[in-house]
Formats: sequence, structure tokens, C-alpha cells
Amino acid sequence: MKLYIVSNRLPVKVSEQEGRLLFARSEGGLATGLDSLHTDYEKHWIGWPGFCPDGEECRRKTADELEALRFHPVFLTAGQIADYYEGYSNSTIWPLCHYFFAYTRYKASYREAYRAVNRLFCETVCRLAEPGDIVWVQDYQLMLLPGMLREARPELEIGYFHHIPFPSYELFRILPERAEVLRGLLGADLVAFHTHDYMRHFISTVERVLHLDFRLDEVQLGDRVVRVNALPMGINYDLYHGASQKPEVRAAVERTRRLFGSHKLVLAVDRLDYSKGILHRLWGFAAFLEHHPEYRGQVTLAMVIVPSRDHVGSYAELKTHIDEEIGSINGKYSTMDWTPVCYFYHGFAFEELAAMYCVADVALVTPLRDGMNLVAKEYIATKTDNPGVLILSEMAGAAVELSEALQINPNDIGQIERSLVEALTMPVGEQRRRIRDMQRTICTQTVDKWAADFLEELDATRRKNERLR
Ligand code: UDP
Repeated sequence: MKLYIVSNRLPVKVSEQEGRLLFARSEGGLATGLDSLHTDYEKHWIGWPGFCPDGEECRRKTADELEALRFHPVFLTAGQIADYYEGYSNSTIWPLCHYFFAYTRYKASYREAYRAVNRLFCETVCRLAEPGDIVWVQDYQLMLLPGMLREARPELEIGYFHHIPFPSYELFRILPERAEVLRGLLGADLVAFHTHDYMRHFISTVERVLHLDFRLDEVQLGDRVVRVNALPMGINYDLYHGASQKPEVRAAVERTRRLFGSHKLVLAVDRLDYSKGILHRLWGFAAFLEHHPEYRGQVTLAMVIVPSRDHVGSYAELKTHIDEEIGSINGKYSTMDWTPVCYFYHGFAFEELAAMYCVADVALVTPLRDGMNLVAKEYIATKTDNPGVLILSEMAGAAVELSEALQINPNDIGQIERSLVEALTMPVGEQRRRIRDMQRTICTQTVDKWAADFLEELDATRRKNERLR
């Protein structure tokens, strides 16, 4: 029997050698978690390979190479990427689920492309899956897929995980296709979220939009029940906890220390996204320097921003604002031997990122909304010798588990400023105690445990439905 993970993107790295495209598995959190999953199921992945091959011959070759890795490509056109991915997924659903209501764009062409691409994924699953197989749909790009699959293949076991926040009814009701999307999700046997709050919002939205009644965590639909659950996703804990022992990470730690010298290092790592509160963080850091001149020349903020969705207008605009704000802080405070904000607008390899986590005295994580935030968990997991303090927005899903972080409301710039002072003056003993407590929580709630828990819950739902029939 097979387990099909269905996500917008396949976890592949594409490279070119002598004119040929080569594919390798990439080690994203979910991919690693599923690799370490011990199940009797053969694992397969369905998704977009990340590029649009030219011509039938190229598509066939690409598909052959990918199928050898048990990856099944869904080829999308540039137009579909523009309307389904950048459009409906990232300009309609993403801002709505992150409470950026004013950024939400509604266009018939987006909606139609979203339906068409979900349908394309449905056809691919139907072509591959056999009775008894499990289909696990990932995230907000594919919310119609569970419903389409249920209609086409009622016997399949279907799960759905929502990796971003699920907003309150008052927000979700704004979406013109709210009922269609909710019905799509309810095609699954199990719909799961990172936190109880997201789950509660989903339940009340379904009850009010579709006039259905949940009994605790389940709702009856004809001859089956749909269950909902909160399962916070974790990280590959051992990978980060053991990172400082790796020679490549040690070498990167030395380089990082040389770069920042004796300055205290405050680290921030995000994809470029308005939900991440990057400007709020810069305003907080500017206020901190303004009101605490004793820290000037002593503390450096390292901002790692990974380029993302730069074809979407709101992202391009945000980039300009961030560049301006950093320019303004550096222009005002830089000296011959200190630059307050060290800005990296590119991604880092694992070794370099882990080295930054090791060295950083403070991690400043300030999303205005974030489904989970894995960076916060990775920072805590990596800490072994060198202590450190995590400042974490209460709007991140991770705040539920990381209760020993200095939790802040990122809209309160004064609080960001005060928490920086508190972090930089926290006694080392207290830093270690907080890290130890948080490590105790996240070392058991790993990504493989998360995946195993999800599949166990899905199986329990299947058994319950079999009894009902
Ligand atoms: N990341 C990375 N290289 C970088 C910066 C970030 O590989 O230079 C990874 C990071 O380790 C984390 C992920 O990107 O696993 C970001 O996940 P998170 O949940 O924090 O935010 P998302 O981007 O999913 O909203």
C-alpha cells in the first residue's frame, strides 16, 4: 500500500549538468520527517516540480527522472502559476488567513485557475492511487482537492494539514468562495492544524457558513465523520541539536564569530513576507538604539531575509520599505568599526544558518501572524554550549509550545525595545534554564512524531468510519 503526500511543490533540487536537468531530494522539514517515518506504506510525493519544461520530450524526461525518486510531477503552465499560485493562493488566501484583509485580491481568473489546478492534482492522484492507499494533502494551495477526491474516489483515505493560520469566522466569511472551500476541506477524513485556536476557528466557520454541527472534534456528513485536530509540527530536533558537533558547522561558527567580533549578536531569519513583522522588528531595533545609547557599537542585528514571491506586488513593495529602513538605521548610527544592521538578502545553507543560531545571543522572531515558525524552534534546538534568549511574537503558532521565550506583541514597538534590553541583561543561568525547559518540549514533538501522529489519527478516523458503515 502507498502513502501519497500531495503538496504544491515537490521537495526536489534541480541542477543542470551538460545540458541535462538532474533532480535530487531536498531536505525540507516535511520531507525529512516523512523519510524517517516508519510505516508499512511506500511513500510517494505528488506536486509541481518548480519549473515549466519546454516541449513534450523535456516533460517526459523530467517525469522519468522524478518517478525514479517516487516523485510524480504535476506540470503547470506559467499562466497557471501566475493565477493559481501567485494569484489565488498567495494574493487571496494567504493574506486572508494571516489577517491582512486589505491585501486580499479577488479575481475570477484566480479562482478559476485555482479550481483548474486542484482538478489537475485530483486527476493525477486518481491515476495513481489504488484502494487502500492514503492521500495526505498539504496546505492552502490545495483546499479544494480533498472534496474533489472524495467525489471521484470515495473509498480513499484522505487527510489534510493546514500549515498556515486559520482565521476567525469574521475574516473567513469575507471570501466569496467560503462555502466551496470549506466543503473542499471537509472531503478529508481528518483536517488538522498547528494549534487549538486555528482548529476552533475552523469549527466555528464551518458551523456558521455551512450550518453543520460539530460534536466536540467531529462532524457527521452523510455516512461518514470528519475529524479535526491540533497537531503542532516540529523540527528534526537531532539535526539541529547535534549541529555544533559537525566540523562544517564549527568552521562556520568561527567565520561567524570573526565577522561579528565582540558585538552581541541579535539574529532574525525570515522569508520576505509582510506577515513576518520585519518592519516592526526594525522599528523596535531603531527605538532600542535611540533610547539606549550605551548599546550603540555593542549590538549588531543580523537580518537574514530569504527572497520570496517577488512577483507579487505587495512583496516587492515590502522589500523597498525594508531596504529604506535598514539604510536609515545604518546611515544614522554606523561608525567606522560598527554597522548596526548586517543585512543578507539571500538564503543560507544549513551549516551557515546553524552557525548563526549557535553564535546568536538573541533570536528576534516578530511575526504579526505565523502558522507555526520553525526558525524559533531551530534556534532553541541548536543551543548547546552558548546560551541565548528567544524573543518570540505571541502571534506565532510556536508560542504555544515555547512558553519560556520572552513573548511579545510585535505591534508594541516599546515592548520589542524593552525585551531586547531584558534579553541582553538576562543572567546566563536563567538563559540556560529557559532553553532547557523549551528543549524538553520540542525534543519529543519532532517532525517525525508529528507525521506519525497525523497518520495514526487518520487511521483512527478510518476505523471509526468503517464501524459506522
Ligand atoms: N531557512 C533556510 N535557509 C535560510 C533561512 C531559512 O533553510 O537562509 C529555513 C529555516 O531553517 C526554516 C524555514 O526556512 O526551516 C522557514 O520556516 P518557518 O516556519 O520559520 O517560516 P516559513 O518560511 O515556512 O513561513
